[in-house]
Amino acid sequence: MSHLLILGGGIAGSSLAYLATQTGHAVTLVDAGFESSSSVPSALLNPVRGQGGQVVERGLEGMRFTWSLLENLERQGFAVPHARAGVLRPVPDQKTFERWQGRIPEDLPHRWLEVPDLMGQNVQGQNIQGHWFKVLEVSEGGWLDGNAFTRALREASGARVIRGMAEKWTSKSATLEDGTRLEADGVVWCGGSWGAVRANLTSPHRRGSVLLLEKPLSKIPVSFGIYSAPSARGGVLGATYETPTSLWTPAGLPLKSLEWLLNKAAHTFETLEPEFRGLWTGSRLGGEILCGPRADGSFILSGLGSKGFLLGPLLAQDLLERMGI
Ligand SMILES: Cc1cc2nc3c(=O)[nH]c(=O)nc-3n(C[C@H](O)[C@H](O)[C@H](O)COP(=O)(O)OP(=O)(O)OC[C@H]3O[C@@H](n4cnc5c(N)ncnc54)[C@H](O)[C@@H]3O)c2cc1C
Repeated sequence: MSHLLILGGGIAGSSLAYLATQTGHAVTLVDAGFESSSSVPSALLNPVRGQGGQVVERGLEGMRFTWSLLENLERQGFAVPHARAGVLRPVPDQKTFERWQGRIPEDLPHRWLEVPDLMGQNVQGQNIQGHWFKVLEVSEGGWLDGNAFTRALREASGARVIRGMAEKWTSKSATLEDGTRLEADGVVWCGGSWGAVRANLTSPHRRGSVLLLEKPLSKIPVSFGIYSAPSARGGVLGATYETPTSLWTPAGLPLKSLEWLLNKAAHTFETLEPEFRGLWTGSRLGGEILCGPRADGSFILSGLGSKGFLLGPLLAQDLLERMGI
């Protein structure tokens, strides 16, 4: 058994803590406790991304791994609001349909749905506009409550959790802002977008916002540029669309972004009935996914971009194997 020190308790750090303790290791997790993009109220598990319909490498494996962790947590008595009823991806035209068709691998469970079946008045009632050419259903996709999932992983891990900020660290120790010094057999940095400055990372930061709605816009999550999904307390409508910046920025939702978001929503859905309840905003660290050793002998799992819940837990497992602990 060895002792792992994890700095940052979002989906990356909490998955790592959970998986490490499952295999008998002792874990201390230090988390500053704010600006975690993993607190997103509703995150999609969806390996078919963007308007080009690219399929994320290891996306199916990652999605299945995340669902399997969620099932484990439920068996242990943790409640994580979620639904695994698929994700819908509207396809604008025949050309896009053909391009996406060529990209979807055979082993990714999916169906092509006809739009009239998904419009407001009929049986499936997904509230989709009639102008879409077809809709791709990613059958094993779904949504989960990011905050509840991350918290459950952290609690189920039984790790010693310290609320604090790591100022500096080496391969075997970290010093916190209040002067506390912690030692371990291995140190992993998982500080996300907000913490990136202290880790000397140059990856791009991208802020996004999610409108909290009294009810979901659609029963099954819909994603094309924007995304809408059910959530534990109603529904969400959001996207990560602000211009990437070289440093974390505290800005929320500028009005021009709100206009963009609502125009996209009006283009996607037949009605925008649900009432506005609030706003969640977060920043994600993108660029290249960082998963492995650093020059100083410590390790890193970060830069998960918009795939934190799709790939974070799977990469946490990979990292543990690479660390050989
Ligand atoms: C609007 C929006 C929508 C998204 N939707 C999805 C989605 O649908 N599906 C999906 O898979 N992903 C989605 N994402 C991306 C996902 O949220 C992120 O990839 C993921 O949360 C990143 O997790 P993380 O653990 O790397 O970092 P974070 O969740 O940011 O956690 C980092 C933690 O480390 C702490 N910390 C930082 N520095 C230190 C330090 N020095 N000492 C101690 N603690 C520190 C912070 O306080 C924070 O608690 C979305 C992101 C946004 C912004």
